[in-house]
Amino acid sequence: AKVSKKNARIVFYQGALDKEINDRDHIRHLLFQAVKDHDFFLNYQPIVDLSTGVISGYEALIRWYSSEIGFVPPDAFIGIAEEEGMIIRIEEWVIQQACSDIARLSECESRAINIAINVSYLHFISETFIETLKRVLSETGLSASQLEIELTERVLAEDGHQLEMKMRYLKSMGVKISIDDFGTGYSALNYIKDFSFDLLKIDKSFVQSMLSNDKNQVLVKNIIRLAQDLDIRVIAEGIEQQEQYQKLKQFNCDYGQGYMLSKPVRYEALEPGKQF
Ligand code: C2E
Ligand code: MG
Ligand code: MG
Ligand code: MG
Repeated sequence: AKVSKKNARIVFYQGALDKEINDRDHIRHLLFQAVKDHDFFLNYQPIVDLSTGVISGYEALIRWYSSEIGFVPPDAFIGIAEEEGMIIRIEEWVIQQACSDIARLSECESRAINIAINVSYLHFISETFIETLKRVLSETGLSASQLEIELTERVLAEDGHQLEMKMRYLKSMGVKISIDDFGTGYSALNYIKDFSFDLLKIDKSFVQSMLSNDKNQVLVKNIIRLAQDLDIRVIAEGIEQQEQYQKLKQFNCDYGQGYMLSKPVRYEALEPGKQF
């Protein structure tokens, strides 16, 4: 009985793996068509200044609705887009759309609203990235100081010298750079001193376990303090509960983002004047 159970499990795993590979191939196939047909749109999630309760800006998050399989979350297709060399084309559209929307919103609100855009390391290191930003800024009239580029720790595996030069150049333009999902990847402390990040986003996994796990709370509190000493602003991601919000304010975290404040929504549903 023991043996057959074990075999059954192997068969089960193999089946699951095959399914996953098939799904991936299927998504890959659909993604090529989606890029051709422009089947993407953006959601925006507010980033709130915790000291004033004012919305300081938004993070742009890509959405893909496939008429065949429905909504496909970005985590399920960004990696494939990177493998297939489609990511640059997709993100050029994201940058164009997000900057144009937020330039328009800023004009309506008569204040500078920021826009944070996630950029793949492959796009960031590409030759065309800075040209694209410059072109979009000039076409949309958005000020470079309203633009934040979110990079994950994955980018740090690339050539350090090239990276540093590019970051410096962006900084000289006035563009800000955030390190996203902080704490989940390579997380070596020396990179926050070696590279000049303007913003650090504490990953939602820390924020969400902060109340139940004392060690995580100590980590969050001290990441905030460390960043402030290095003149880096901190954004806490994934705030879902009032208690998390209060704790983060108490720790002097600069900005917050999460379902408790607002889920990511379409441009038409934005309420930039809302006070928290
Ligand atoms: P991210 O940049 O860390 O974005 C935050 C993710 O957390 C988003 O998931 C957002 O919907 C979700 N989130 C926000 N608040 C909460 C909360 O309170 N609780 C929980 N559980 N989740 C929350 P989403 O939209 O599915 O995006 C997932 C990831 O996909 C993003 O993580 C980002 O890494 C990537 N992504 C999205 N758009 C782009 C893009 O244009 N380019 C690239 N390279 N990556 C993108
Ligand atoms: Mg992000
Ligand atoms: Mg993140
Ligand atoms: Mg993430």
